Amino acid sequence: MIINNDTILMGVIGNPIGHSLSPLMHNRAIEKLGLNYVYLPFEVAPERLGDAVVAVRALNMRGINVTIPFKEMVIPYLDDISAEARACGAVNLIKNEHGRLVGYNTDGKGFRASLVDEGVSYIKRALFIGAGGAARSLAYELAISGVSKMDFLDIYLDKAQDIARFVGQFHNCLATGDRISEELFSNLSQEADLIINCTPMGMFPNVEGVPVSSLHKASHNAVIYDLVYNPFTTRFIAMARARHLKTINGLSMLVHQGALTLEILTGAKPPIAFMKEVVLNYYKKQ
Ligand code: NAP
Repeated sequence: MIINNDTILMGVIGNPIGHSLSPLMHNRAIEKLGLNYVYLPFEVAPERLGDAVVAVRALNMRGINVTIPFKEMVIPYLDDISAEARACGAVNLIKNEHGRLVGYNTDGKGFRASLVDEGVSYIKRALFIGAGGAARSLAYELAISGVSKMDFLDIYLDKAQDIARFVGQFHNCLATGDRISEELFSNLSQEADLIINCTPMGMFPNVEGVPVSSLHKASHNAVIYDLVYNPFTTRFIAMARARHLKTINGLSMLVHQGALTLEILTGAKPPIAFMKEVVLNYYKKQ
């Protein structure tokens, strides 16, 4: 990659940001496509978020990804947001359109693309563990793709109920929201085609964490999806494999939402298989 006076800057803001695989994945994809861009990570102090967004315009950056903890709080700084981002109340990508900052949310679409990629085509009933920002984006995408029943479990009853109400507005979609308990999880897991860990439980450095202690009642047809991608095999995924259930880890969604980012910011067709290989190779070297 040769940086010159025409190189266009992109990046990601978050706090912390050291764990992010996005710079590696995007810079390798940019190189592969022969584009004159560079993608950098920026750790931003929460009280400097406004300054960071102003900098996107001032430095004529093409755009930035937005990650924890800024996905919701960045919205007031933007000129416009996409329908998805508005519905989910969260932005994970800002595009600088000639000085106009537009917020997008590619998490839901990235998630759906990952299901297609993994050969999961039919879901009737989904069970969510965790009802935060990521769960809302995924639930929105599943609701608009026709999933008819969703159950949400969280430590906080109000968060689970709030997201269930949100999803319940969609045509033909029934939803429940409850405080998580092992018993309730076990009961709901018997009927679910898709069980998704939307909590950070098990994420590095707390790799011993699991969102639930057992999957013993999950249907043998259930797909177990963990949004966590670091470590590559979480304890939750290992638990599912021990029961010979189909598993998907967060890497697939990371790659697909990243591919959408590249497409929105550069207009180029993203090299998805190559991006996946880059991230997999990273794990092999760990
Ligand atoms: P979030 O907004 O913090 O939501 C997580 C929710 O789950 C919080 O309400 C949390 O409560 C709750 N929770 C924690 N442990 C729980 C448990 N054992 N049972 C039930 N609920 C529990 O986080 P988020 O932004 O939605 O992200 C969730 C995870 O998805 C993170 O690990 C993130 O890295 C990952 N993610 C991955 C991708 C990808 O591309 N693969 C994309 C987006 C997000 P507390 O606040 O008390 O912890």
